[in-house]
Amino acid sequence: MTHPFLDLAPLSAARFASIEDRVARLLATEQDVVIMQGEALLPLEGAIRATAGPGTTALNVITGPYGQTFGNWLRDCGATVVDLAVPFHTAVTAAQVRAAFAAHPEIDFVSLVHAEAATGNTNPVAEIGEAVREQGALFYLDAVASIGAEPVLPDAWGVDLCVIGAQKAMGGPAGVSAVSVSERAWARMAANPGAPRRSYLSLLDWKERWIDGGRTALLHAPAQLEMLALEACVERIEAAGLETVMARHRSAAAAVRAGAVALGGGLEPYVHAAGDAAPVATTLRTPSGVVASELVARALETDPTLPLAAGGGALAREMIRVNHYGPDATPGVVRAALTALGTALAEHRTGVDVPEALRAAEKAWG
Ligand SMILES: *Cc1c(COP(=O)(O)O)cnc(C)c1O
Repeated sequence: MTHPFLDLAPLSAARFASIEDRVARLLATEQDVVIMQGEALLPLEGAIRATAGPGTTALNVITGPYGQTFGNWLRDCGATVVDLAVPFHTAVTAAQVRAAFAAHPEIDFVSLVHAEAATGNTNPVAEIGEAVREQGALFYLDAVASIGAEPVLPDAWGVDLCVIGAQKAMGGPAGVSAVSVSERAWARMAANPGAPRRSYLSLLDWKERWIDGGRTALLHAPAQLEMLALEACVERIEAAGLETVMARHRSAAAAVRAGAVALGGGLEPYVHAAGDAAPVATTLRTPSGVVASELVARALETDPTLPLAAGGGALAREMIRVNHYGPDATPGVVRAALTALGTALAEHRTGVDVPEALRAAEKAWG
């Protein structure tokens, strides 16, 4: 008997190329799209190591934990790094980016995370992209947590390296990921003696041995199951319509935010302005004296499948993450999450009103 996962025909180069083309359409990009055979950290690291070196001055915007990681890679490549850190309860502004350019006119590289699933904020990439274009810097964007939840438009925004993964709002696999690469970015890599070559991290290998050869021969055996899962997940988004999928995420975020405020008991949106809050996931601040990780653990006792987590590291005391993405961007999951959080919070605080929270969530879903 053939096994559905094991007894598969080899994935052809043509099929691989067609999956890349589908991802390119999802990004509305004319740039080359390379699907890398690993989790999104692979193209995230590969793209920095390919384009940054001792001659680079990088503006590294930190709005969550990934920005910190990017800064470390940049420094490791020998780049001079100007860190622009903003509090996790807000977003960076184009004005802050312009001010950094004015203070450091030599900046020729900008790294930015679009949406942060870990902190719940999202950054105005279109406006920042305008500033980056005026500066003439190379623009690197981590869109792993935004793709599928809100528009990601590398060409329109002037993004040179746009990294996505399917495991968040796309509702797909985590094991393969993609990066769109502009002509400028390819040129920067080709001129960089430190860019990885003949390496698993290498984007140039894919350029020279896959793209320039007309995409007829793969570099190595692809992660076949993950490639098929990525294809299926993009097909499912196309069938539903990308706008519909994004609207589900917007609604889930609005509903959790409104529900948490209406719940009472001192729970607050972690990201102050609704416009800075990411559609992919909503973060909440616990009232003082209530430890977020303990509240989440209690809520998960009632239903361990709920997409709830505490913030990472020191944030575990005060931040709750509601990861309402992919298959969890539904009214049912939002209701269940608010109910579980409200029930757990009512053990600590009076005035918690779950029915009121559910009414507010339903109204905000729209
Ligand atoms: C989720 C995410 C990634 C990928 O990391 P995993 O934790 O391995 O899923 C990268 N960047 C951002 C901004 C993310 O939210």
